[in-house]
Amino acid sequence: MSAEMTLCGLHFFETEAEMETFDVAIVGGGPAGSSCAAFCALAGLRTLVLEREKFPREKVCGDCLNPSCWPVLDRLNLAQQVRILPHAKLDFVEFIAVGGRKVVIDLPPGDECEFAVKRSVFDDRLLRRASELGADIYEETTVTALTNSHGWKIETARGERFVTRTLVGADGRNSTVARLCNLLPRPERERIALQSHLPLPANFGNSAVLQFLPNGYSGLAPVNGQELNVCLVAKPREMEALKKWATKRFGVSPNHAWRTITPLTRDALSPAHKNLLFIGDAARVVEPFTGEGIYYALRSGELAAQAIIKIIRGEDRQSTLREFARTCAEMYRGRLWINRLARASVLSPRLGSFFVHAARIDPSILRLLTAKIVRPN
Ligand SMILES: Cc1cc2nc3c(=O)[nH]c(=O)nc-3n(C[C@H](O)[C@H](O)[C@H](O)COP(=O)(O)OP(=O)(O)OC[C@H]3O[C@@H](n4cnc5c(N)ncnc54)[C@H](O)[C@@H]3O)c2cc1C
Repeated sequence: MSAEMTLCGLHFFETEAEMETFDVAIVGGGPAGSSCAAFCALAGLRTLVLEREKFPREKVCGDCLNPSCWPVLDRLNLAQQVRILPHAKLDFVEFIAVGGRKVVIDLPPGDECEFAVKRSVFDDRLLRRASELGADIYEETTVTALTNSHGWKIETARGERFVTRTLVGADGRNSTVARLCNLLPRPERERIALQSHLPLPANFGNSAVLQFLPNGYSGLAPVNGQELNVCLVAKPREMEALKKWATKRFGVSPNHAWRTITPLTRDALSPAHKNLLFIGDAARVVEPFTGEGIYYALRSGELAAQAIIKIIRGEDRQSTLREFARTCAEMYRGRLWINRLARASVLSPRLGSFFVHAARIDPSILRLLTAKIVRPN
């Protein structure tokens, strides 16, 4: 319920005593926020989502859903509905070295496949699921101020005010919630990413293509029968050269408007703080190359919801939050070395290319890496 009311053209605010107190307010309606909201609402919690943008909206992303996402979507009764969205099934991943040599690795077949879908379409469906399950969703609502005393008071750019017992920061890598709480780690500006949807070249095939180039790397994936997702990642001083390569390769105008995002690397922050939880990119930013961020967002949203539900039902807060932090750490464990390796490879395209050349002689290393990344959980 909005705090602002209009009477005879006059705007006034309810007093705090009159305002509804939500059990949980989630800032950000991306995959992390929507997943958390949907699981909280499913359990009957009074759930609020505050989202800056009007959906559907695009995101700088490779648009690839890792197979690990399917079980989470299943638990939201959403997997079948996602499968019928406009999409492309990806059968292979092609790694291309500087110089053009390539290695092709199979991806899992069937229903638990690697699946490419535009974020405008996927994120919108997820946010609508949270709404269908009973969450109150406010779009075009930017959180600008927070006060924490006997619960959280939230203010937005339009002057609305909300009150909640628990706050969740699901607002991405540049989290406003973390910044307002003086928790946002310093970003590293070592690389930037550009992204766009371009017309799908004829005979592109059902592959994700990761190509190392002298100035960085590109990631390509068809997202439906007409469009190709193109991501470019480079150090800031190298991006102009990489953009030139893409302009020529895809025949786009030099003035083409690419979406952009930074940082690609940032220290993680603790996911659990008394009555404040962080999930998805707000908690930990992972290497885009491995295409796992959406899974971590969905699953950390689910884990946060489980913790919040337990606390509201009277279980001990401290031990529940400790358990939440432990399960989040476990989710990333065993995969972080792949992230470090991927980051090193893309910071130095020569190292990345070395892996591709080595894999041409013995593909088991790339097969193992790919299997680790796309294994269903
Ligand atoms: C180049 C690139 C390619 C990638 N490719 C892939 C891929 O193929 N597959 C994959 O799984 N992952 C990929 N990722 C990672 C993935 O995009 C993220 O991990 C994922 O979007 C994280 O989801 P999230 O919900 O945590 O945050 P986000 O998706 O960033 O959502 C955060 C939401 O919070 C809202 N918000 C922000 N501030 C406020 C505020 N003050 N008030 C209200 N709302 C606010 C935003 O509008 C946004 O909707 C890629 C990342 C990059 C950079």
